[in-house]
Amino acid sequence: MKKILLLGSTGSIGVNSLNVIRKFPERFSVSVLTANNNIELLQKQIEEFHPETVVVVDINKAGELKSNLKENCKVLSGKDALCEVASQSDYDILLGAVVGFSGLAPTIEAIKRGKRIALANKETLVVAGELVTSLALEHNAEIIPVDSEHSAIFQCLVGEKKEQVEKLIITASGGPFLNIDKEKFSSVTVKEALNHPNWNMGNKITIDSATMMNKGLEVIEARWLFGFLSNQIEVVIHPQSIIHSMVQFVDGSIKAQLGYPDMCLPIQYALTYPERFKNDMERTDMPKINQLTFYKPDYEKYTCLGLAFQVLADGGTAPCILNAANEVAVSRFLKEEIKFSDIPVSVEKALNKFVNHATPDIETIFECDRLTREYVINL
Ligand code: NDP
Ligand code: MG
Repeated sequence: MKKILLLGSTGSIGVNSLNVIRKFPERFSVSVLTANNNIELLQKQIEEFHPETVVVVDINKAGELKSNLKENCKVLSGKDALCEVASQSDYDILLGAVVGFSGLAPTIEAIKRGKRIALANKETLVVAGELVTSLALEHNAEIIPVDSEHSAIFQCLVGEKKEQVEKLIITASGGPFLNIDKEKFSSVTVKEALNHPNWNMGNKITIDSATMMNKGLEVIEARWLFGFLSNQIEVVIHPQSIIHSMVQFVDGSIKAQLGYPDMCLPIQYALTYPERFKNDMERTDMPKINQLTFYKPDYEKYTCLGLAFQVLADGGTAPCILNAANEVAVSRFLKEEIKFSDIPVSVEKALNKFVNHATPDIETIFECDRLTREYVINL
């Protein structure tokens, strides 16, 4: 029986994670759930999964939850509570499913305790990949990817020698704007950008998929998870999202991982690895799919993708600046304060504004995140 600390249980990955956990009551139990402010859903999750502790980051909402709760469950609140549960609760696996920079600090706490990290929160590796992965090595903490592309690569690498890998091929659906011209980017609406063709995800990652910043973040995530240089990572558009990613070896052979596009599969694998548990998820019906297609991405159109490769080459605090600027710009686009085409412009401005610190410590990363946010909010 593995005890799970689920950071971000009320989000898209959080809900899918509980869908997996629900199927294996003899294998998994929930020790902690966390939300930012969605106490209605959190309360239902508490009643079903009986965690010992929950966190509601929003202090007022935490108070409201406490007065409604009939269960015997500890309720913590405030920004530091995620770190508190990660460093003090009783659990085996931290499933990191909060969105954005807020995942970094609690993930570090779990790593310091040598826990397994099932990581969906890619921003943690984007902003502090070098620090986080070396800390994981030092504390013997496994990081198993939940992101579907990285789960695919992880599965393709099982039993292989790292030095015999030629390149990683990360597939991308291309998002909702694959077939529209870049000129239209200044007039696309929030609703259009949120209409992803293959995946139903949280708002931030859905916008990132439309700008292809998501793929850029995934390139950086892959660099740190698997230890390959950026010139060994290729992005290929594959609109059907059936091949989740591939690995090409020195003999020219390519291994791919395929599956029906459902996040429950990579979530389950990250929890059960190295085992595979039998489940009743939808199977991939190959004749029904009929066709798998591939294209090169258009770097002129998707500026964010090129910016991500650039910050990966620059290193230091550049990826942290890119991430913070993107988080703020996406949130401003969702509030209709800026245009879709302003997202890459905001990121580029932030990258030009700040000096890159070559080997940042964790305090420098937090300060860089804070300053970048302050700058982009006021653009
Ligand atoms: P959602 O927006 O759906 O969920 C985010 C979760 O984090 C919610 O539980 C939310 O609480 C909580 N949260 C939001 N802001 C904060 C904060 N400042 N502090 C603490 N908790 C917070 O996101 P997704 O589930 O889509 O994505 C989660 C992560 O997984 C992201 O990093 C994303 O890139 C990654 N990922 C997601 C995929 C997907 O299919 N959705 C696929 C691959 C990776 P509340 O509900 O109360 O607001
Ligand atoms: Mg992904």
